[in-house]
Amino acid sequence: MSAREWIGKDFYRELGVSSDASQDEIKKAYRKLARENHPDANPGNTEAETKFKAVSEAYGVLSDTAKRKEYDEARRLFGSGGPGGFGFPGGGGTGTGGFDINDLFGQSTAGGGFGGLGDMLGNLFGRRGGGGTTAARGQRGADVETDVRIDFAEAVKGATLPLRLSSPATCGTCGGNGARPGTRPRTCPTCAGSGLVSRSQGAFAFSEPCRDCRGRGTLIDDPCPECVGEGISTRTRTLTVRIPAGVDDNQRIRLAGQGEPGRGGAAAGDLYVRVHVNPHPVFGRSGNDLTITVPVEFSELVLGTTLTVPTLESKVSVKVPSGTASGRVLRVRGKGIAKRDGTQGDLLVTLQVVIPAKLDGKAKAALESYAEAVAKHDPRPEITALLRDRGA
Ligand SMILES: [Zn+2]
Ligand SMILES: [Zn+2]
Repeated sequence: MSAREWIGKDFYRELGVSSDASQDEIKKAYRKLARENHPDANPGNTEAETKFKAVSEAYGVLSDTAKRKEYDEARRLFGSGGPGGFGFPGGGGTGTGGFDINDLFGQSTAGGGFGGLGDMLGNLFGRRGGGGTTAARGQRGADVETDVRIDFAEAVKGATLPLRLSSPATCGTCGGNGARPGTRPRTCPTCAGSGLVSRSQGAFAFSEPCRDCRGRGTLIDDPCPECVGEGISTRTRTLTVRIPAGVDDNQRIRLAGQGEPGRGGAAAGDLYVRVHVNPHPVFGRSGNDLTITVPVEFSELVLGTTLTVPTLESKVSVKVPSGTASGRVLRVRGKGIAKRDGTQGDLLVTLQVVIPAKLDGKAKAALESYAEAVAKHDPRPEITALLRDRGA
């Protein structure tokens, strides 16, 4: 993106973060806003859609430390610039203080129907190079992040899913020029199509975006009904995504070149698919290991037993030696999660004694005589000794 396109766009405000926000804060803010305004979650809501595009663009710049630096630099330059004092470095504050783009356009503009700062500036400088002489340097498309939710078994075995994706794309109705089909944008007479007009301020001359065409260089008398003159509309496409076996909850998969289209012939951005894995009712996961908790009777641990334990697709016999402690974890080799790198996890079986809420007469009588039989046996000798020392 050329620095010129950034003039006046407040990406920080778009994401609701301060200009010294950490990359993590930026990411969090973006993810929240993108989720709230995602077109899939807001069908037909153009306000959400506009916001979605705006936060995506803001994130595309701020998430890239090199681009962010460039952006901050541009803001700093223009922050001390504006009509109030161009060319006096150090004379202005950083960030939003010094430069009021509204001054450039004059809030008193006749008919003044600007839809707000972000909206207005979004149109500056011909985003798609349709303005003839506007300098549309090639600009890599923004990266896009989206979410998918899959089942536990799909995460373990891998899956191929269709992914419906709404993203801004060149408007198919007008071909991106923003004019109603059959009509054409005309060259702006004020700036002769350059999108810029010269103005002098004291000893300094500088260019500012043309007010009449908002910097586009062209005027649209009859806007395209699909994109209302924006030249960009939201397109829904369906991609097939391969989720590799062994993917973990919250992991991101990168699909190169599947993000937003590039401008001026530049490469498309990447698509990041964040995978959310639904929990399994019985199995859990610890890295490559599959975990399961198996409830057992006290007597099974004391006397020893052989348990039949499910694996993801089959079952295994697990021998429990006599005298096994409650909470003990038994490892069954090679029955965990296979990853595409060839590693194979284990099945970890946690044994947990269940205490019956009530017993029938026969079991109760047996347990009472058991209690009697072990009455002389102290299960907690260290504690007894400690209590004795305290004279309890
Ligand atoms: Zn259109
Ligand atoms: Zn103009």
